[in-house]
Amino acid sequence: MPKVFVTRKVPQKGLDMLLNQEGLEVEIWPEPLPPSRETLAQKARGIDALYCLLTEKIDDALLDAAGPRLKVVSQMAVGVDNIDIAACTRRGIPVGNTPGALTEATADLTLALMLAAARQLLPAAAGVRAGKWGTWDPLGYLGPELFGSTVGIVGLGRIGLAVARRLQGFNARLLYNNPSPGPYAKEVDAQFVDLDTLLAESDFISLHCPLTPETRYLINADSLRKMKSSAILINTARGDVVDQAALAEALQQGVIAAAGLDVTSPEPILLDDPLLTLPNALVLPHIGSASITARQKMATMAAENLLAGLGKKPLPHCVNPEVYN
Ligand code: NAP
Repeated sequence: MPKVFVTRKVPQKGLDMLLNQEGLEVEIWPEPLPPSRETLAQKARGIDALYCLLTEKIDDALLDAAGPRLKVVSQMAVGVDNIDIAACTRRGIPVGNTPGALTEATADLTLALMLAAARQLLPAAAGVRAGKWGTWDPLGYLGPELFGSTVGIVGLGRIGLAVARRLQGFNARLLYNNPSPGPYAKEVDAQFVDLDTLLAESDFISLHCPLTPETRYLINADSLRKMKSSAILINTARGDVVDQAALAEALQQGVIAAAGLDVTSPEPILLDDPLLTLPNALVLPHIGSASITARQKMATMAAENLLAGLGKKPLPHCVNPEVYN
């Protein structure tokens, strides 16, 4: 009987698609934290399909441990930087992901971070709870307006576009940088610029590129110095797109004004990370896709990919379609 290992409890709709399949042995990791590397290797031994999350590192060692029966790796996420795609392709294993399912949820959260970081929502709310709301303060908690601002989008793909669409309602001037001018710019009247121009002209800089060797530390001490001192950096992409130590220093020294981060490096962020002591750094625990709708869709899409792979059919959403050549 084909065996599936699911690395966490995911929305029931997705699990039911697997549990209701006749002739499938499904094991679901029951703990709230991911299995350790050793445990994952042990659980993966002899399986036919792996349903995983971005918290698992899928590399040669893990694939070796799983063995030759493994037919599909299905990830419940769009980003696949935790998976050695080339290693899967070498073994003829298709890798599935969930593009689109989380686009709107992540774009919503991006706007929430922009507004919260700009208007100091966290310090303001904390002040209320601490009894520091003395009176209506003409000088309290001032911040820039998103309305009418210039926003630079690094990576105008699905999520970048969904953010840009929202920003049209804010009358924002939109700049973007991609490896080459993309197909979405026309719809949102976004201007293609080089990264330096984007950094220099934007009031808000929002990161939406995948984590790749080219984008690792794309935002570093150098690029932070190219931003306006009033700039607000938003990262809902991946933690390692930003050099976090350089960002903390830039926020401390007023090189830029504020940052809103949904993703960090590592995850969870270390409790002694200086970012957690800064009033102008807003850090969330990677909840970009955490809408009920998005998580359900992600869970079912990942199940669809997995079942297709088990049935030796092309995955509806495959990261390495070259595997079928
Ligand atoms: P997507 O549609 O593939 O968009 C990514 C865009 O980034 C593409 O337009 C791509 O251009 C561009 N890009 C690639 N390399 C770049 C570079 N060096 N500089 C500038 N732009 C670059 O992916 P998506 O669905 O929007 O997702 C984007 C990323 O968001 C994912 O990879 C994931 O890491 C992250 N994410 C985070 C959350 C969260 O919970 N916070 C949720 C979902 C996704 P080309 O197409 O020309 O390569």
